[in-house]
Amino acid sequence: METLKLYDGDAYATEFTATVTGCTPVTRNNETCFATVLDRTLFFPEEGGQSPDKGEINGIEVKDVQISGDVITHYLASPVEAGSEVSGLIDFKHRYSNMQQHSGEHIFSGLVASIYGFNNVGFHLSDNSVTMDYDGVLTAKDIELLENKVNEAIYKNIDILCEYPSPLVLANTEYRCKKELKGAIRIVTIPGYDCCACCAPHVKKTGEIGILKVIHLQNYKGGVRLHILCGERALAYFRESLDLIDSLTEVLTTGRENLKDNISSMKTEIQSLNTRLASVKQELLLKDISDIPEDAENVTLFKEKTDSFIMRNVLNKLTEKHKGVCSFFSGSDAEGWTYFIGSKTADCREIQKKLASINARGGGKPEMVSGSVKASESEIKKALA
Ligand SMILES: [Zn+2]
Repeated sequence: METLKLYDGDAYATEFTATVTGCTPVTRNNETCFATVLDRTLFFPEEGGQSPDKGEINGIEVKDVQISGDVITHYLASPVEAGSEVSGLIDFKHRYSNMQQHSGEHIFSGLVASIYGFNNVGFHLSDNSVTMDYDGVLTAKDIELLENKVNEAIYKNIDILCEYPSPLVLANTEYRCKKELKGAIRIVTIPGYDCCACCAPHVKKTGEIGILKVIHLQNYKGGVRLHILCGERALAYFRESLDLIDSLTEVLTTGRENLKDNISSMKTEIQSLNTRLASVKQELLLKDISDIPEDAENVTLFKEKTDSFIMRNVLNKLTEKHKGVCSFFSGSDAEGWTYFIGSKTADCREIQKKLASINARGGGKPEMVSGSVKASESEIKKALA
């Protein structure tokens, strides 16, 4: 039996009573819940890319709401008795936020269609994000123009109409539509901006959307995907963004206007310090190895983590001075070791084989091998012995 959609007539109603026409236990996401069908409901199901309403029936949490054909099923945490009368309560804060986002999307998509001729080919409205996909490319400049026009429509506080026109009226109405529709078609009109087939609850007046802001634009399947925020969600995002900026200005003890310059000069300074640090490290290592007696044939060094290019430079100096096998390990027992091994007389691949016995990964030529090993200094020394 068809479920009467009470939200269709009044998107602002929060409480209702209904008769239970069926309640069956089912397993969803590894837990038991109760698939409950009522003769009528205020719960908007997951439909058209929008996540379902939240709330409770007889005080029991409604975990999900799905629609199949004309039947709406509520998934409850515990059962209700078939044939009994129940009372339902919608989480209106959640519903109203969805209404704000969805009505904002309609104005935006209507303007994209009329100005650029692109279709809205995807819509997703969940608790965390609102995205719209268009089959054409919009630039950042286009977005700014669209944002301005949408917000103008919001300031004008225009009535939003949700109706089921007669077949005759419908045949003479031009409206946006994402898919082939069956049954009675509900048309949502925002005069001067949009006319679109849609089953979802909307705000009564555009002013209730509060604000629409695009927060992200990306290329997507030959067109674009936009992330938007309307109403309270936009306010929360604005607040978070200001908090972030304020905490950054506090950490960097600078004003908002200097933040960008401050961070980029810090970045440049870090890069130049790193270059200076590398050169000092190399100088120290070269000083260290100059102290090794010249008659030492084989040399093995274990040092703190060092850049590969420094290791290579130091190893070249070692093999010039010592004619046996020179090994340079840098790192720590905890993090593991990176190594370069070189020799002018021996085949270093033989040493690589010894290290492979303690799961070293590496390779190279007879005169030099390199790699890394997750073992302790003493384990490495034992393998090399
Ligand atoms: Zn819609």
